[in-house]
Amino acid sequence: LLSLGNARKSFGDNEVLRDISLDVKKGEVVAVIGPSGGGKSTLLRCCTLLERLDGGSLAFGDLAVAEQDERGVAVYAGPSVLKDARSRFGLVFQNFNLFPHWTVLRNVADAPVAVQGRDKTEAEQEARALLAKMGLAAEEGKVPCELSGGQQQRVAIARALALHPDVLFFDEPTSALDPELTAEVLKVIRGLAAEDMTMVIVTHEMAFARDVADRVVFMDGGVIVEQGPADQVINHPREERTRAFLERVG
Ligand code: ATP
Ligand code: MG
Repeated sequence: LLSLGNARKSFGDNEVLRDISLDVKKGEVVAVIGPSGGGKSTLLRCCTLLERLDGGSLAFGDLAVAEQDERGVAVYAGPSVLKDARSRFGLVFQNFNLFPHWTVLRNVADAPVAVQGRDKTEAEQEARALLAKMGLAAEEGKVPCELSGGQQQRVAIARALALHPDVLFFDEPTSALDPELTAEVLKVIRGLAAEDMTMVIVTHEMAFARDVADRVVFMDGGVIVEQGPADQVINHPREERTRAFLERVG
């Protein structure tokens, strides 16, 4: 469903991704862990077309977004392919990024109408159903600042789901939240995993990664140091760097 091959990305002479290959299958939940500055957010930003790769390839299923030429340089497809690719994933950030002046309902229902040309009544019905599923049925008429951080993050998840993505990317979805609010958001993500939503989740919640992820990827210094089944990587890491990191974060 998502395939990244030999991905390279530098900012000036800072090589942030140094040859990352990652395949995510339909229904798989992949957690990406690792120390600050290791390139996790850059990896997600490249997968979601917010940044361009310097080298390597990127595809969503049969849709080739970037292919490598004979020197390994990433050559991107044209605008119509990129637009198509953008409709295949959703992205949830650390700090929600909701429109502050729009109601909760409009935050969720606007893009399906404006971007995908769907019928407004139908989009609103679906948005209400998604909000109910997130435990937010009573909040649809409020604006984001009237909600807790955990509620805002669940609105952001509903907004991403409203576009029917094949894969959802999360970048530290709970790092701006108190523990209690974190639990609500993690519960929602667990529910999506149980429904076989394909997800790539950058997280520093190790217990959550171990519970919810099929596979854990440990990144440090722009490379994948180790990856494997969640229990193996977190409870029985093979690499010294993974072990040292896990001991540090406790
Ligand atoms: P954290 O756990 O702190 O979120 P991370 O693993 O997400 O870290 P990145 O944000 O991907 O790490 O950053 C990796 C490196 O890339 C860092 O050295 C950072 O300074 C650099 N970097 C990221 N984005 C940019 C940018 N837009 N311009 C220049 N350098 C950047
Ligand atoms: Mg980051």
